[in-house]
Amino acid sequence: MLNLFRRAMNILFVYPQYPDSYWSFRHALRFISKKASFPPLGLITVSAMLPPTWNKKLVDMNVAALQTKDLLWADLVFISAMNIQQESVDKIIGECVKKRVKIIAGGPLFTQESDNYPQIDHFILNEAEITLPLFLKDLASGHRPRRIYKTDGYAALTLTPVPDYHLLTMKAYASMNLQVTRGCPFACDFCEITSLLGHKVRMKDTHQVIKELEALYRLNWRGQVFIVDDNFIGNKKKIKNNLLPAMKEWMQNHEYPFSFNIQSSINLSDDEELMALMIEAGISSTFIGIETPEEISLEHCNKVQNQNRDLLQSVRKIQNAGFQVSAGFIVGFDSDTPSVFQRQIDFIQQSGIVSAMVGLLNAPKNTMLYQRMEVEHRLTTTSSGNNTDLSMNFIPKMNIHDLLDGYKSIIRNIYTAKPYYERIRQFLMNYRRPTVSRRQVKFSNIVAFFKSNLIIGIANKGQGEYWKFLIWTLRKRPGLFIDAMTFVVYGYHFRTVYGLMTRDDD
Ligand code: SF4
Repeated sequence: MLNLFRRAMNILFVYPQYPDSYWSFRHALRFISKKASFPPLGLITVSAMLPPTWNKKLVDMNVAALQTKDLLWADLVFISAMNIQQESVDKIIGECVKKRVKIIAGGPLFTQESDNYPQIDHFILNEAEITLPLFLKDLASGHRPRRIYKTDGYAALTLTPVPDYHLLTMKAYASMNLQVTRGCPFACDFCEITSLLGHKVRMKDTHQVIKELEALYRLNWRGQVFIVDDNFIGNKKKIKNNLLPAMKEWMQNHEYPFSFNIQSSINLSDDEELMALMIEAGISSTFIGIETPEEISLEHCNKVQNQNRDLLQSVRKIQNAGFQVSAGFIVGFDSDTPSVFQRQIDFIQQSGIVSAMVGLLNAPKNTMLYQRMEVEHRLTTTSSGNNTDLSMNFIPKMNIHDLLDGYKSIIRNIYTAKPYYERIRQFLMNYRRPTVSRRQVKFSNIVAFFKSNLIIGIANKGQGEYWKFLIWTLRKRPGLFIDAMTFVVYGYHFRTVYGLMTRDDD
């Protein structure tokens, strides 16, 4: 490889395909003629860490097919993946092996499952800011690089470069993404984030984040930007004092070109000043892990931040501050009883949380839950990484058939057309879109509207509810028509993913 290193190497980044899942939003994307929700941020960040003289090319298989000529061009193929992309990963590896291209792999799937991939030539695991320079150093010095580069340490994010956004075909994506922090101060027992990224919240400097916004702006991106941090408010003090005022100023100076989406813990509701600052900086929605309204299950899974509070009230406070709230819910806790299913349905319907991701509990490797299931000899397989595909990787306490029936009843009762549109109405009645995130009608909105009339209003089940909802929105909340239509196409995606389009439930 030394000879290769001396010339400009050809690096092919390959991002595996996602299956059709809740998170893929594939069926909603067709309305706005986009191919994927988000670009592969990890790979374009790694790209920016490689020597600038190397030639780089990205194939995101969610956007374009991987072609033989790309593999023949490449000296090295870099793959990054999550568990949910395993099937596509296997195909890519097969192609690379056939073409004898060396594979370098990193990211959450390989960090946890490197033993399962004997065909991979080199693993750059954990934090690339630490492990990638070691690999590059060995490569440059003429030593045969080690097979595995890993570390127990956590990198300072001040070392992280601006991602190579220019490698992306931006128009194929519904949203761009960027990272501000890594790590989460909490310790929910089913969550793998803290084993991968630690409890200490590490943060980029404010000027780094602003540089990333500038980079996106200069590449003419306008619209949604997802801040991928697992808990954006992990270090409230720093984001309040430094980051948010700078973001607000930048957004004002650039006439609010972006609308930010984040993930946060529910204790956001306890800090009105923080919420106001976030809204002023252009953050318009947040995803929150609510998991369950059952206090005993929250205790068992160590979700301390959700305990001893009126969860519904907390959600309302966040919505009233101007945020759209989406949330995750889980069934399958040891303490769940048959009444949990109706309690989840009631909570979701009352909350006006339109995008409610309900999943079955799973125990990813390196979590406290996994360790407990191992000790109790209840593990059955590895987690698929898709918690809406009806799979569990351990034996639940509740009879599995009752659990699956209950799970399906939640999905039916929140995603068939009638209750779904009811939930959007509930949300729209209380929602006031903040002035800073006013939405302009674009040509793509008009196209999406006509497509939805055809696809949802004529060609599929639940048409009656669709037209009733449109008329209601035009009469009661005309100023929120674009938001309403966005939720309508999300609903089409959810019903398709959950197989509700072919049932007689509407
Ligand atoms: S708050 Fe979220 S990111 Fe943090 S440990 Fe819990 S589930 Fe994981």
